[in-house]
Amino acid sequence: MATKIGILGYGNLGRGAEAAVKQNDDMELVGVFTRRDPSQLTIATPGVPVRSADDLLSGDPLDIDVLVICGGSATDLPEMTPKYAARYNVIDSFDTHARIPEHFQNVDQAATQAGKVAIISAGWDPGLFSLNRLMGNCFIPQGKDYTFWGKGVSQGHSDAVRRIDGVIDARQYTIPVESALESVRNGENPDLSTRQKHTRQVFVVAEEGADRDAITQAIVTMPNYFDEYDSTVEFISQEEMDRDHSGLPHGGFVLRSGELASGTKALIEYSLKLESNPDFTSSVLLAYARAVARLNAEGQSGCKTVFDIAPAYLSAHDGAYLRSHFL
Ligand code: NDP
Repeated sequence: MATKIGILGYGNLGRGAEAAVKQNDDMELVGVFTRRDPSQLTIATPGVPVRSADDLLSGDPLDIDVLVICGGSATDLPEMTPKYAARYNVIDSFDTHARIPEHFQNVDQAATQAGKVAIISAGWDPGLFSLNRLMGNCFIPQGKDYTFWGKGVSQGHSDAVRRIDGVIDARQYTIPVESALESVRNGENPDLSTRQKHTRQVFVVAEEGADRDAITQAIVTMPNYFDEYDSTVEFISQEEMDRDHSGLPHGGFVLRSGELASGTKALIEYSLKLESNPDFTSSVLLAYARAVARLNAEGQSGCKTVFDIAPAYLSAHDGAYLRSHFL
């Protein structure tokens, strides 16, 4: 029997999750749920109902094995995931690292009480990068951790630039500093400041007559977002923005470098190069949704993270297949 998937929230991730169901034969999309007017939303899959998010909470719970919650991390998920975990098995991609402990506790309480399983913060970071950081620390107990992001679009930074007076549109790319990455790869274990690890590249569409110097200054000095980085700002037309910067690529590198007990050096590197951040993130979400369904079928409940999920639970194949193909 196919795992019945519901998608809550139809943005980039929601659309990605919808597409990802098509690559997972053991899954079936049974509904897309939105907080907007469902009649105004056209989805890509014919025949799948688009319903109000309220329908998930009124009356008896709907026949959904796992609800993939695709809201934003800033304000949606802290409220949504505990609320829906009280009625459904759920998964989210919550990526506000500093607030994960608090989010875990809230979701764990709701899911445990309801006898449901939740996985939070699945995706690539947090998610696959977290797993690689953890494994690196276990396998190379004495060493240093490095995470580089990019080249990729940071939506949070792009939004922050769009809020500056005179800015119509903006796209921000985070770029690893190649020499820093090389130094880590060479096993030099450098101490790297924020500025030494990444640069920021900003493309801006400005209003006609806007003060470009003032916009540039507002960007490069913006606290928390840009002031600790070397940033470049380039003004382009809306046509160029639409033509050259409409995608959401991302990726990065997780490295652990150190020395083992006998004095030999060891370096682990894991990297991702993603043409579309949301497409990949939602594909990871669906693999972990499979684990959610399995754990719940086994009678487990409560909140989990990627650290708690055995790899075999992610695969549609059985143990014999996995042992003969991947071991
Ligand atoms: P979006 O902004 O595209 O969507 C978030 C929500 O906003 C949607 O669920 C949708 O809810 C609503 N929405 C979307 N489009 C519109 C619109 N045109 N008008 C009004 N509302 C809209 O965010 P993403 O899908 O790109 O990302 C979601 C979160 O995923 C991010 O906040 C990020 O933190 C996280 N993430 C995590 C990653 C990881 O590796 N862990 C990687 C990438 C992202 P509704 O349909 O209910 O209105």
